[in-house]
Amino acid sequence: LTVVEAATPALDRLRAVLAEIADLRHAEQILDWDSRVSMPHAGAEARADATATLTRMIHERAVGDEVGELLEQLAPLERELEPASAEAALIRVARRDWERYRSVPGDLAAELAHSSAIAVAAWDVAKATSDFAGFRPHLERQLELKRRYIGCFPPAEDEYDILLEDWEEGMTTARVAAIFDELRARLVPLIEGVRGRDADDSFLRGPFPLAAQKEASRRVLEAFGYSGEEWRVDETPHPFASNPGLGDVRLTTHYDETNLHSLFSSMHEFGHGVYEWGVAPELARTPLGSGTSSAIHESQSRTWENLVGRSDGFWRWFYADLQAIFPDVIGEVERERFVAATNAVRPGLIRIDADEATYGLHIILRFELERELLDGRLAVVDVPEAWNARVRDYLGLDVPDDARGVLQDMHWAIGLFGYFPTYQLGNVVSVQIWRRAQEDVGDLDEQFARGEFAPLREWLTEHVYRHGRIYPPEELVRRVTGEGIDAEPYLAYLEGKFGS
Ligand code: ZN
Repeated sequence: LTVVEAATPALDRLRAVLAEIADLRHAEQILDWDSRVSMPHAGAEARADATATLTRMIHERAVGDEVGELLEQLAPLERELEPASAEAALIRVARRDWERYRSVPGDLAAELAHSSAIAVAAWDVAKATSDFAGFRPHLERQLELKRRYIGCFPPAEDEYDILLEDWEEGMTTARVAAIFDELRARLVPLIEGVRGRDADDSFLRGPFPLAAQKEASRRVLEAFGYSGEEWRVDETPHPFASNPGLGDVRLTTHYDETNLHSLFSSMHEFGHGVYEWGVAPELARTPLGSGTSSAIHESQSRTWENLVGRSDGFWRWFYADLQAIFPDVIGEVERERFVAATNAVRPGLIRIDADEATYGLHIILRFELERELLDGRLAVVDVPEAWNARVRDYLGLDVPDDARGVLQDMHWAIGLFGYFPTYQLGNVVSVQIWRRAQEDVGDLDEQFARGEFAPLREWLTEHVYRHGRIYPPEELVRRVTGEGIDAEPYLAYLEGKFGS
């Protein structure tokens, strides 16, 4: 107890410093949201300066000696506290973040940010003209900087572990590889078995008037728990969700007359938004006040998009409404046909358009290639050929050009290596958590058919969302499901849904 009392001023001071950092991040997120949603194009350069200044201020504060001194003073308290308490978690997470920031010199951090901006601009042009050669020097530069970044940390069993750790605390390359090997071995034959089972889905190509799409998304989001008090939706070419601060959840979506992607993408972004929305308010303005990792975040976006949004119960509730919204296109299409079409398995070239069954293979090939690129087994000049060969092996498709191949994603231009695996780990985790929810909440499908989504949302809030970053990702999964991250339930789900 004496230790606790002695440490209280240090803990108060740490909280105050961390709250200031959180406030600066709040501003940084608003600038980012604005530049993607509403800023006039010509404002980009001035915005880059403003963002760079703010980012530098955050970095200086986050790596400052004061945080280190406070953490040192708080070490005895941390040993005394119940490890799962919010106070212990706050100190643990603050120490982890501080140590990782401190490891990277400021000039390297600045170089990484700067070269990302340049590489993304180059990627934009290269993608539009399907010109890999134009992007090649930028990818080489990004890899060189990433190797320097890896060199800032103590050696790991696999250097890729260091990159994974940025997004998925505690996850290792060996575990990802083992999970992905299991997935690949069963997904490839599953997809092979489904091939040729094509149903007519021409009605999914619309036209779906944009105003009516907005109305459809609004009805679904409101049934899920969206309210105008604390949420908003805007349009962007590349949808994302953002949560700058308490009571402020921002989703974006993209409407296209020729498909209904906006509806599924709205449900996906809702999943990201509702996770942040559900974090306990007392964790706001601390490093604990957000989702615990990229994979757990993606598990929730996938839950609302796929496990809810493509379920039979959901469509029993919503299909008649959707028919009334688009009478000309689907007025005559029976529900079973529509649901089958929205769940069709069709190997394609583009990751973001992939169905549930083929999605994992898009991620697995990226994971394999970025590991080979980083350790030098694969030269940048050979990436398109290696990409295309793997698309042929895994998906049975020929890649006609690099725009629809290696240039399709922005991630490597940004310098996001070690991030792709978290998308697929998210799919895996989504089914593990879902099974547990079904045991606790009862017949979810029947609830959805009645338009009841609150029981699921409240269960997820109680077991997953409210904890923020208190538990590292896999510990959270263990607490919710009683087991670590495991591909089996996800594979059983896919085989049950799409197998013969
Ligand atoms: Zn997502």
